[in-house]
Amino acid sequence: MNLPLYVQGAWFVGALLFIAGLKGMSSPASARKGIVIAGYGMLIAIAATFLVPGLKNLGLMALALAVGGAAAWISGQKVKMTDMPQMVAIYNGMGGGAAAAIAAVEFAKGDAHGVVTTTLAVLGALIGAVSFTGSCVAWAKLQGVLNKAIRLPAQNAINVLLALNAIGLGIAMIVMAPAQPELIYFFFAIALVLGLIVTLPIGGADMPVVISLFNAFTGLAVGFEGYVLGNPALIIAGIVVGAAGTLLTQLMAKAMNRPLSNILFTPMAAAGGGEAISGTMKEVGAIDAAAMMRYASKVIIVPGYGMAVAHAQHKVWEMTALLEEAGVEVKFAIHPVAGRMPGHMNVLLAEAGVPYDKIFDLEEINGEFGQADVALVIGANDVVNPSARTDKSSPIYGMPILDADKAQNVIVIKRGKGTGYSGVENALFYTDNCRMLYGDAQPMAGEIIQHLKAMG
Ligand code: NAP
Repeated sequence: MNLPLYVQGAWFVGALLFIAGLKGMSSPASARKGIVIAGYGMLIAIAATFLVPGLKNLGLMALALAVGGAAAWISGQKVKMTDMPQMVAIYNGMGGGAAAAIAAVEFAKGDAHGVVTTTLAVLGALIGAVSFTGSCVAWAKLQGVLNKAIRLPAQNAINVLLALNAIGLGIAMIVMAPAQPELIYFFFAIALVLGLIVTLPIGGADMPVVISLFNAFTGLAVGFEGYVLGNPALIIAGIVVGAAGTLLTQLMAKAMNRPLSNILFTPMAAAGGGEAISGTMKEVGAIDAAAMMRYASKVIIVPGYGMAVAHAQHKVWEMTALLEEAGVEVKFAIHPVAGRMPGHMNVLLAEAGVPYDKIFDLEEINGEFGQADVALVIGANDVVNPSARTDKSSPIYGMPILDADKAQNVIVIKRGKGTGYSGVENALFYTDNCRMLYGDAQPMAGEIIQHLKAMG
């Protein structure tokens, strides 16, 4: 279809805004602005779509936008920070499903396209459909709707068989284009089942990596369908999402020390495992914890998932300010997979107003723990577990960790003896230089603040 220049131009502007938006999202300082810029890009791209001449379903399009927009607005307002991964999963699934639906409509029309366009439509349909059902399973697992990892006998052989079938049917659709409806139905059915079967055996611990992978898939599928529709906004946005998703998947897999092939084909053993740890955990009170930090020269704070659940970031920043007033140097150490999504801790600390020059990545700060008087671990567990360095039987063996155990003293704030995400015991908590401050992260940080104030 020959589209008017103003529609093409508007889509192109939309695509440029997506790129500018993504650039903004690369730093917590500009992330909000980036999201707003990308939002404007989406608004322009959608508005331009309504101007495509000859569209017959404007009423239905407006209705779909109203329903989708309202659902996204309400869920976006309500979602808890800790539920963000499943929100990303379901939105991503919708993107993959939409890409597959575009392809389905094009196939149903039965118009003759060239071989290249049909091939891209088939590829987008296959990847989009897999991403749709796979992301729905990921959502169900993270939401707790589906608690078990369901593994079929000869799982990998079934995966390969289904994938070969889907590819074979896809090739038939290209060769026989325009394909018979039965062939199209069969192709989509197999692709949708493939997404389910591949994702069902994957355990919750690996799920965020899988979501990131499906995100890359969705981007690719959208890009392919953008080519089919001749829509530059879809092509560019799809490619950008595909590339960003691929990089993020690699980064997360590396930070969890789980090769991607391992995540997909040999799911993690049941939670737990690792060598038994001897010794006892030693408790400390808030007043002593406050004194240890007040009279230290250097404190490194390691936040983790528990700080996020407790919404303790504001109190942690208030405590930091008091320590700095007393002349203590305070830094934050962020593990790449601390919390439950990439950048989780950075977002929370930024929200609380912690300046970026106090926040350090694993590689930047690990060498400094040896000179720290106190490492304060708040609601973190796996990311400071020294067994990851030494215990080959541990499910987190090989994962790079923050070397909190190398500080002179370690104080750990957590509610009780609960394990972290991986379900393994933490050897750090049993070491001689470690003290446990039991309680919810927010009130505990509050108590420390009171004691610091009293110490003047
Ligand atoms: P973690 O290992 O999940 O440990 C969190 C700790 O916080 C728990 O041991 C828990 O102990 C404590 N806690 C929970 N609620 C609390 C509260 N209200 N107040 C104080 N403490 C509380 O967390 P992490 O060290 O941040 O490690 C992240 C884990 O998630 C890693 O295993 C990582 O591989 C995984 N993961 C991360 C991502 C990502 O992208 N960030 C993605 C996938 C998986 P109590 O119950 O005793 O309080």
